[in-house]
Amino acid sequence: MKRSTDAILTIATSRRVLGWLLAIAFGFIAGARLFAQSDSALGLKRLTQDQWTIITDMPIDREIESWPKMLDQALLTWCQKWSIDPAAARKWPLVIHWIGDRKLFEQAGLLEGVPPFEDGLQIADKVFLREQPSVYYRRHLLLHEATHWVMYRALGGGGSPWFMEGMAEIEGTHRWEEDQLTMGIIPGNASSVPHWGRFKRLAESTAAKRMPSIKQILRYGNERENRMDRYVWSWAACVYLRNHPVYGPLLGRASAAPLDYSMKLSEEFEKSLSARWDWVERDWKLFVDDFDFGYQPESNLVALEGIAPGVSESGLSEFTLDTDSAKGWQLARCFLKAGEQVEIHAEGTYVVRLANQEAWESSPDGITYEYHRRMPLGKLLGGFVSTETSAPLEVFGVGKEAVYEAATAGWLLFRINEPVGQRLDNSGTLQVRGRITSSRPR
Ligand SMILES: [Zn+2]
Repeated sequence: MKRSTDAILTIATSRRVLGWLLAIAFGFIAGARLFAQSDSALGLKRLTQDQWTIITDMPIDREIESWPKMLDQALLTWCQKWSIDPAAARKWPLVIHWIGDRKLFEQAGLLEGVPPFEDGLQIADKVFLREQPSVYYRRHLLLHEATHWVMYRALGGGGSPWFMEGMAEIEGTHRWEEDQLTMGIIPGNASSVPHWGRFKRLAESTAAKRMPSIKQILRYGNERENRMDRYVWSWAACVYLRNHPVYGPLLGRASAAPLDYSMKLSEEFEKSLSARWDWVERDWKLFVDDFDFGYQPESNLVALEGIAPGVSESGLSEFTLDTDSAKGWQLARCFLKAGEQVEIHAEGTYVVRLANQEAWESSPDGITYEYHRRMPLGKLLGGFVSTETSAPLEVFGVGKEAVYEAATAGWLLFRINEPVGQRLDNSGTLQVRGRITSSRPR
């Protein structure tokens, strides 16, 4: 393994102390040379290991030393993911500019021809990162920009803007523990990803009624306005679509190499979904409602297209549903026409939390000891998905009993009220019974 450290230094530190510090920092020093006269005068440091070069004005610590090792693992993962020949990929150089003081990089001529950017940017074999408020988020940004780089190198481009940014956000969301990198995670809690804030932004956007449809996301451009909102929605859409049993394979086809940066991917994908848009948007609403820390696509993602049509055709006026307290939205065999009312009754006890070897038992009304989204933890919720309008998912409290009147035709779903990541330790089911009782003429 080739490893060299070019550092340096206008600092008033003796060469002996410096050498000692570097020896600790890097274990091995191939030679400390001036990066370039002008750069050294500016205090920029340059580290090179194999294909990775880091240029920075920031202090070199253990975290930065670990970047080449982390990028080695990332590259191997990307090679497997996109069938890239690792031997070829190892020959692609990447220069990482990690920027504390932008002026220093400007003075060194390292930002010539680089457009303005807020956080990070990739241009060919160079990435540029501004310093971030947390170590996690700095690494996130590095992996995000490096994803743009590897897609540019291996696939010829990142695809349409939403896909390019969504994929970079998927790969950027990572765990780095004991020198092991896992990318593409959905974090279990906020404390493991300081300053990441993606779920917070999604929740704020949804609360402000700015949740975009999938069609709107596919048509995102590169404009700078509302950039972060578009990034997080692109990430959510990528997670949703890539994990969907029906739409995932279609996206796989539309995003196959070669890629460019045009709207071609979006247009092809949109075309492949044209006969089923309503389904795409309905599942998206259910996904967004549940998508939060600890979300597991394999157990939480609902695909209505395969199950709901049978419910519409059954014509049943009564239903029962054993609602699993550990699961997300569950479809009842009940199709409501506009104006129809349904009477709902629920019973059963189930465990909503295991804390200090104590099981918190709940009934359908929930536990008022704790609230989530302004309703008691464990309370039975109903969800209504319209088949006639693009209205958002309607969520309503049910508890032991409730009457719901449908304003349009659609399906009923149930789940208990608890953040998705905290449902995993639940056990038990509720018996939900429903009866369509009256129909209001329209
Ligand atoms: Zn990006």
